[in-house]
Amino acid sequence: MEELKNYIDGELVSAQSGNTLPNWSPATGEIYSRLPDSDAQDVQRAVDAATRAFASWSALSATERSQYLRKIARGIEARKSELALAEAIDTGKPSSVTASLDIPRSSANFDFFADAITQFSSEAHVTDRTAVNYTNRHALGVVGCISPWNLPLYLLSWKIAPALAAGNCVVAKPSEVTPMTAYLLSQICRDIGLPPGVLNIVHGLGAKVGGAITGHAGIKAVSFTGSTQTGESIARLAAPAFKKLSLEMGGKNATVVFEDCNLDEAVAGAARAAFSNQGQICLCGSRILVQRTIYERFKNALVHRAQTLKIGDPLVINTDQGALTSQAHFEKVMSYVALAQKEGGKVLCGGNRAHVGGRCRNGWFIEPTLLEGLAPECRTNQEEIFGPVATLIPFDTEDQALAWANGTRYGLAASIWTSDVTRAHRFAGRLQTGVVWINCWMLRDLRTPFGGMKDSGVGREGGLDALRFFTEAQNVCVKI
Ligand code: NAD
Repeated sequence: MEELKNYIDGELVSAQSGNTLPNWSPATGEIYSRLPDSDAQDVQRAVDAATRAFASWSALSATERSQYLRKIARGIEARKSELALAEAIDTGKPSSVTASLDIPRSSANFDFFADAITQFSSEAHVTDRTAVNYTNRHALGVVGCISPWNLPLYLLSWKIAPALAAGNCVVAKPSEVTPMTAYLLSQICRDIGLPPGVLNIVHGLGAKVGGAITGHAGIKAVSFTGSTQTGESIARLAAPAFKKLSLEMGGKNATVVFEDCNLDEAVAGAARAAFSNQGQICLCGSRILVQRTIYERFKNALVHRAQTLKIGDPLVINTDQGALTSQAHFEKVMSYVALAQKEGGKVLCGGNRAHVGGRCRNGWFIEPTLLEGLAPECRTNQEEIFGPVATLIPFDTEDQALAWANGTRYGLAASIWTSDVTRAHRFAGRLQTGVVWINCWMLRDLRTPFGGMKDSGVGREGGLDALRFFTEAQNVCVKI
């Protein structure tokens, strides 16, 4: 059985304790590899290596760092089929998705920040002809990057790339649920000759490894993506040490469908938003608010669409819906389906474990599930389920839709479906979410600020925001 390694100081090594953890394949329910069960001593080694590497890495020109990032991007591209297969086996999502989304986006992240760092400029302010102020942007030092299981390489690279581009050295922790492509990335970094210690990847459990990174005095900033609950514990640990924090957390996003929408496009968009990656994307639209005048038509069309999604082996090319990522997560999502019914929800379609035969007979599959008849305030409509489960809620007026769309602790994303341009912009501006899509969903431009309001996030990733996060601004004032 393959044993994954940590990547520390340019080498692939086991945890110092020698302990390992099982890694499961969600489609089969079987352990297929093992990962290091690292602890604080492994994090210490990684921080030491990163600290040693920092002086020379941060002294490189932006162009030189950019060239390393490009080599990593090319390294990912050269192994893209292997990475796409590995990501599908590790996460349970269809290999068609990993091949078209996860892996291309991971190399694009490195290319994007390879470009961005050579275009990054800082400000100058002329003060009443008496002084000139200019802004230095210094690399922070050693930074921590902690990422979740739902888009493993995509989100890990989205953090590592800007951190390295800006001149920092990194101690990264991928999710223990999906460690495989981070391990393959460490092979790529070693093979392209990234200087030892510039990037270190330490595998293991959240509180043990992530906690050691967050609490380490040598780590100057933590960029985290994951649940709001974990984000809160990271904030508690990091705040007294005044570390910079970027927190990308949970969501309970609304899809808002007005009567004047293009119905076919809205149904297709709402289905994608609800069920992509088995509903395991932070941006998924799990509350579908539909204007009452078109509610029945919309509902019937959406139910039909959900029922035609093909659930199956992630490695089979025409599979639309793969497995949920772990047994614990499968059980959590199923418990929410039961809760929804207890709260008075009516199952319109799905609601059960899906049985996929053959090698996937023990996999963690759930039918795409739609529910109606639930109050906007109930737990099903307030808590993040993070699975292929969405609710339909009829509304009468724009104000009512807005109040319900905004009526959760979260504020990550929303999508609006309407042909009324004025209403679209008015509604978008009143939504308390960091991202709004009008007549689309998950259409991404990597230059835009990405992140959530309220309990969904602190700070923004993407574009220059990420480079600003990973640098410290210093104002220099020169008297004329
Ligand atoms: P999680 O919070 O359980 O874990 C995320 C990462 O944090 C993992 O690497 C985990 O090992 C680590 N971790 C766990 N406990 C820790 C601790 N005490 N200290 C430091 N690190 C710790 O999240 P998950 O279940 O892996 O991912 C699903 C969640 O991520 C959902 O809530 C989803 O909405 C969110 N998410 C948000 C975004 C976004 O951009 N806002 C993107 C993807 C996923």
